[in-house]
Amino acid sequence: MSNSKNISSAEQADDSILAGYAMRNADNGGRIHSEEPHAYRTSFQRDRDRIVHSKAFRRLGYKTQVFVNSEGDNYRTRLTHSLEVSQIARSTARALSLNCDYAETLALAHDSGHTPFGHAGQDALHSLMNPHGGFEHNCQSIRIVTSLESRYPQWSGLNLTRATLIGMMKHGKIYKESDEALQELVSLRAKKGPPLEAVLVDLCDRIAYLHHDLEDGLDAGYLTFTDVLKLKPLKDACSRAQQLYNTDFTEAREPLKIRTVLRLLLNDCITDLIEHSATRIKESGIRTLEDVYSLEKQSVPVSNSADFRDKLSEIHSFLKQNLYSHHAVLKMSVRGTRIIETLFHEYSSLPETMPDHVQKRMEKDGLFRVVSDYISGMTDRFAEKEFLYLGGRRRLL
Ligand code: MG
Repeated sequence: MSNSKNISSAEQADDSILAGYAMRNADNGGRIHSEEPHAYRTSFQRDRDRIVHSKAFRRLGYKTQVFVNSEGDNYRTRLTHSLEVSQIARSTARALSLNCDYAETLALAHDSGHTPFGHAGQDALHSLMNPHGGFEHNCQSIRIVTSLESRYPQWSGLNLTRATLIGMMKHGKIYKESDEALQELVSLRAKKGPPLEAVLVDLCDRIAYLHHDLEDGLDAGYLTFTDVLKLKPLKDACSRAQQLYNTDFTEAREPLKIRTVLRLLLNDCITDLIEHSATRIKESGIRTLEDVYSLEKQSVPVSNSADFRDKLSEIHSFLKQNLYSHHAVLKMSVRGTRIIETLFHEYSSLPETMPDHVQKRMEKDGLFRVVSDYISGMTDRFAEKEFLYLGGRRRLL
């Protein structure tokens, strides 16, 4: 996928400080529609900037992570979650001499295909779309950046580099009906393992959501600090906080204690990811990106240590049992599911109620894919507004 002849001096300088196993600008694979290099920004910086300036990215600010946006202003949304993932990804990528801009790009884009109302929204849309090719948020992210975003007169989508598109294909999948140019990338991806930056972003995603879901769950009062401290990693972090801050910690209010303990745990977890990965990379003997591509999944040398993997699993089981299945969270999910089912039924039966520019895509993409695109792109609040309006319970403002 080398494109080394067509890279700028800024990109060459950038590549010179990266490890041999990192994704270099010279390996970006070019763009499906060729473009001249930018005078001041590298290809991956441009990819990142195109994502940041996209409509889909802005809409993440009003999409549910776990808590419905309207429930409180301090809870994570898909947007703040993506920013936290990108912060962790940048820090870890830099420490491992990987490509920070590439990791940041993948982190910022990783949730762009999510529906409103979190995983309940995705599950509802997937079962409605089951007879029509299904719905999956990673496939939808690819569809957004290659087809749905409209910012250029010459082509649809953001025309990202092939390396970014391949890095975004988490399970190496795209929708069956996708363009031929993308099918080629799927075949390429199937022959190779993912770049280390893509593996890293996946791990950072999990680290970010486990920590912030604990914090949001505690803030919401769905979890209690006493229960959370029964988890060994939290108990250990709490003892460390006590040693580090002594009486100040003892006398602190509970919300400050929660944040102190979670901050220490997050920092330890990221440090462990960096240090364990650095050791494993050294031991693995990988030197080039081609070496990375040829690794079997279980030999990819980027991961937390076994000890921290156990700690993260313990937190995940706790959250599954106590937060993700909490009656108040389930109630939000049921409501989101109902809204999506109603909208899907209404737009499928009366496609003329969708905006003209959306209807126009039906000729190429078919009714159901277009309805799925329209609903999945909605924010929670817009979906609710449409639901109330179509049900005759509210005037559209
Ligand atoms: Mg995520």
